[in-house]
Amino acid sequence: MSSNSSPNSADVKNLIELAESKIDSSAERLNDLSLDIWNHPETNFKESHAHKVLTDFLENEGFMVERHFVLETAFRATFGCDDTGPNICIMCEYDALPGIGHACGHNLIAEAGVAAGIGVKATLQARGNKYGKVTVLGTPAEEGGGGKKFLIDAGAFDDVTVAMMVHPSKYNILRPIYLSMAILVIKYDGYAAHAAAVPWEGVNALDAAVMCYNAIYAMRQQMKPTWRIHTIITNGGAAVNVIPDKAELTCNIRALDEADLNILKKKLIACAEGAAATSGCKVEWEQSSSFASLISNNQLISLYEKHAKNLGWSCDLNLPAGTKMTGSSDVGNVSYVVPTIHPEYKICDGASYHTPDFTAQTGACRAQAPTLNQGKTLAFIAIELLHPSGQETLDKIRQEFEEKVNTLSPPKY
Ligand SMILES: [Zn+2]
Ligand SMILES: [Zn+2]
Repeated sequence: MSSNSSPNSADVKNLIELAESKIDSSAERLNDLSLDIWNHPETNFKESHAHKVLTDFLENEGFMVERHFVLETAFRATFGCDDTGPNICIMCEYDALPGIGHACGHNLIAEAGVAAGIGVKATLQARGNKYGKVTVLGTPAEEGGGGKKFLIDAGAFDDVTVAMMVHPSKYNILRPIYLSMAILVIKYDGYAAHAAAVPWEGVNALDAAVMCYNAIYAMRQQMKPTWRIHTIITNGGAAVNVIPDKAELTCNIRALDEADLNILKKKLIACAEGAAATSGCKVEWEQSSSFASLISNNQLISLYEKHAKNLGWSCDLNLPAGTKMTGSSDVGNVSYVVPTIHPEYKICDGASYHTPDFTAQTGACRAQAPTLNQGKTLAFIAIELLHPSGQETLDKIRQEFEEKVNTLSPPKY
């Protein structure tokens, strides 16, 4: 039994250098790939161009590619040994937002994921492809579609040891807070009547929706700073001279974890039922979608921090209040299934996600160096874990994951 760690560390160091040179020598093609996706923005589940260029790229690089994996625009690209060793999964996103293109920078997430994948593959190949596997998983429809949830349900993460991705931002954040989120549709059913001739015969569903909206508004003063509710009225009647018999609201609720989200959900339903009682309408609600909060694996984050710092990255400390709370993502659901990280990295000053300014930044030359550094960082973590000497670290990662998941209530969706 060898207890001398230096040959292993020298080995890992050489493999890291090999991955770095592979990514550096592919930099121009990786840039073209992300610009191609940026120039063809596609929304939820319609990412056919991105699916094609990403799968073509990975296939040309020698990956075993499963196109249309589970979903029409998802894919799985693997390289390595199936029989022994861990399976390190790098997740790519590539969907855009309606009207404002790549305002969340998912073209860069795809680029970093592919860069990491080809870097790791070069090292597995150099070691004779005898131990461990890398998976580049194409996960579409993050922006509200919850693509990763379909992949989880289909078992795409069943043989995955850890899953990683990075997200562009205006800050460097190791453990961004992604909130648990549920989307609820509240429907009121009243009774239609002529609005001038016999209004007293009507039961006004729009009034119920407005009262529900106002009750939510009044509740805000008592909400925790980490809670969020945003509501729109999606049906408020069809004709002004008819008392509306149908009305509908769509509400997003968010909180730090599942337990907190359930408290907020009960309060929202009380608002909905109160408005129904006051107006005389019937009310029904249904939960159409939900994302779980993100559990970042600290052992993995330590590896990320070490490698990212070696590449010149530094964590943004003293961020403005609330900055770490970014929204919700289906990567949260993944983090309840396998140990996961999703750090954010800086590509610009000032511009925030989901704005046209950020779209300009995600297509800019300036985003390239930090994105490739992130691809390298993910590759270097994977290399450490895919080396037989990484087993001890993998055991710690798994232990932390199990402890955390067992103490939190699992997401309901
Ligand atoms: Zn987004
Ligand atoms: Zn995003």
